[in-house]
Amino acid sequence: MKKHNFSAGPAILPAPVFQQAAEAVLDYNGIGLSLLEMSHRSGEFVAIMEEAQQSAKDLLGLGDDFDVLFLSGGASSQFFMTAMNLLDENASAGYVDTGTWSKKAIKEAQKFGSLNLLASSADKNYSYIPKGYEIPDNMRYVHITSNNTVAGSQFHNLPDTKVPFVADMSSDIFSRKIDPSRYDIIYAGAQKNLGPAGTTLVIVRKDIAKAQRDIPTMLDYSTHIAKKSAFNTPPVYPIYVCMLTMRWLKEQGGVDAISRHNEDKARLLYDEIDNNPLFRGVVAKEDRSLMNVTFVLENEELQGAFLEACAAANINGIKGHRSVGGFRASIYNAMTKDSVQVLVDVMQDFTKLHG
Ligand SMILES: *Cc1c(COP(=O)(O)O)cnc(C)c1O
Repeated sequence: MKKHNFSAGPAILPAPVFQQAAEAVLDYNGIGLSLLEMSHRSGEFVAIMEEAQQSAKDLLGLGDDFDVLFLSGGASSQFFMTAMNLLDENASAGYVDTGTWSKKAIKEAQKFGSLNLLASSADKNYSYIPKGYEIPDNMRYVHITSNNTVAGSQFHNLPDTKVPFVADMSSDIFSRKIDPSRYDIIYAGAQKNLGPAGTTLVIVRKDIAKAQRDIPTMLDYSTHIAKKSAFNTPPVYPIYVCMLTMRWLKEQGGVDAISRHNEDKARLLYDEIDNNPLFRGVVAKEDRSLMNVTFVLENEELQGAFLEACAAANINGIKGHRSVGGFRASIYNAMTKDSVQVLVDVMQDFTKLHG
């Protein structure tokens, strides 16, 4: 029986996407070849790439001033690639430290430029999004992690600045509307909210995609833009599955519709956390993530019993990250409200037993 998968990543994808992805491995569109054995220069794959790129633009409302790439190396490679391409000896960038992934982004970027740590919520184990800090106008860009997958916090407003953003949206890409005019680069590892592990969506504003120094060809955004994201063999299969997910998102009514659905699901779960005396949310209410819901039991000794109750209800992937403890329910785009309701029911039944 299919489980209710609350895993943080690799994560749930829409059921029809799994079905179509499986069929393409055996015979792609009835042409007598598996997608896994087809040339990345074939007409079929070029069409997949073009649809994937166009769908990302359609879903986010991006104009022709942006290029869409599907690269390898994970979001982790974008930590340094952004700085390598955008910074030089004279430029500096501002970073906001809101969790595990921001911290890693800072560590890598500082090897390629001078960084200014604008704010950090490390003082309270990343349980809030810092606000009210100054951003100097002369920054080349400001880097944020829009959704903090581990801590369970999310930017609900962008910091007030004219400086463009570089945003790691690995765990909330396509989950809500954004204003593209505010961004220079958006990147997202596929395996949270978009597809299987193995590719990273990178959206680059054309006019900044000129590396400020001599860097390896593979790490230069302009290489991949010039070659339409097929400079070398792209991760064909993950890109196909991302394309299917984006097609599904469009069928659902696009980002507007999915964002209402996401708010609805998050409300259901946070209401239970707030009203149930046994549980407590981890993150400041105004900064709570709509994608990764982190919570703990007031009585930590009940932790094992709650995990057992979840397992008995066919719930997978609910254990919290070791740095936060407790529980984390990742309720990405493909998560149904019915599955969230199953978790809420388990919490209520648990309270009847132990409350
Ligand atoms: C998972 C994650 C990453 C790392 O992604 P990889 O593709 O494994 O490199 C980076 N940032 C965020 C916000 C993530 O959730």
